[in-house]
Amino acid sequence: MRNDFIYQAAPARVLFGSGTRHQIAQEVERLGAKRAMMLSSPGRGEQVARDVAAQLGRLGAGICAEAVMHTPVEVTERVLPAIHEAGADILIAIGGGSAIGLSKALSLRTGLPQIVLPTTYAGSEMTPVLGETAQNRKVTQRNSKILPQTVIYDVELTLALPVAISVTSGMNAIAHAVEALYAQDGNPVISLLAQEGIAKMAHALPKISASPQDSDARSDALYGAFLCGSVLGATTMALHHKLAHVLGGLFDLPHAQTHTALLPHSIAYNAPATPVAMEAIAQAIGAPEATSGIYDLASSLGAPMALRDLGMPEEGIEAALRQTLANPYQNPRSLEVEALRALLTRAWQGLAPLTLLS
Ligand code: NAD
Repeated sequence: MRNDFIYQAAPARVLFGSGTRHQIAQEVERLGAKRAMMLSSPGRGEQVARDVAAQLGRLGAGICAEAVMHTPVEVTERVLPAIHEAGADILIAIGGGSAIGLSKALSLRTGLPQIVLPTTYAGSEMTPVLGETAQNRKVTQRNSKILPQTVIYDVELTLALPVAISVTSGMNAIAHAVEALYAQDGNPVISLLAQEGIAKMAHALPKISASPQDSDARSDALYGAFLCGSVLGATTMALHHKLAHVLGGLFDLPHAQTHTALLPHSIAYNAPATPVAMEAIAQAIGAPEATSGIYDLASSLGAPMALRDLGMPEEGIEAALRQTLANPYQNPRSLEVEALRALLTRAWQGLAPLTLLS
């Protein structure tokens, strides 16, 4: 076996454990900052942000709870003046990928450093990637300047994550690792992390579903999310992520649920071109075969498997196909129009992926 490769590790500082959020003030000071602006989603996300803000004392510069899915440029531009007016010298994002996306978008425009406390399994905290939406189009960029300086994983922050979101967010994490396993810039280190990330997540999700407060399972899932996010940040994603970005941008579909419904179909599409990755996925989830194993995992935990149930219109299949082909990501299997139309149609209907029937 040949092992020639390039491995670019992301230079983030990671604290992992239970109760780690109590170290937030030290971590702000460690970065030499004095005025921290907290960013979150509204509702439950804002409550969590308030709890953590209370620990910042005089280091706190306010809370902005305006983060929404897919990081619309108009939201970022609306929030930007408040960051300047508050004299913030650091951003602290608490929440899922939406809060972290807003933080990255603001960091890109201000140069401010970031501390992130993730509360879902989306993995954005470990990546130098930002997807912003304007005029129904999600444009993704990679920029080392937006990689958060410090990531604080606190298992306790995830205990209240509803089971339905935990499941789809966990499948979103698995999707990162699946595509890292066959990424053109993958390598043996990435494959090791990806396979372990899938295994931790796949074994934790049924336990969380049965017992959402199981802190060992929550810890495994969050650790899996860290691994899956790390490989997302270190590799170039393929067809599956392209489809998810296109659908998210076109129809404002919920991110994690869209990944979940698409993933078995993307795997089925790429399986003939990626036998080594398929074997690694199957081993990680303890199933005889990757495509059916991933489909069974998500559907047995009650995840919605039809894009139509997430709000995608049927005529959207052709629009999504056009946008996917207009500016494709690299992919291990070449993009074939009819096979892609079949993929999207089956995912829209919520049918089992094609290989299951062959
Ligand atoms: P999200 O951040 O919108 O969170 C989903 C919901 O869960 C929200 O309503 C939120 O308030 C709630 N929530 C979050 N944590 C909670 C908790 N602990 N308890 C109770 N409720 C909680 O969704 P997401 O799936 O985490 O992120 C999706 C966004 O992240 C998308 O915009 C996507 O493009 C982006 N993303 C980016 C990357 C990247 O590398 N750039 C990676 C993954 C996702």
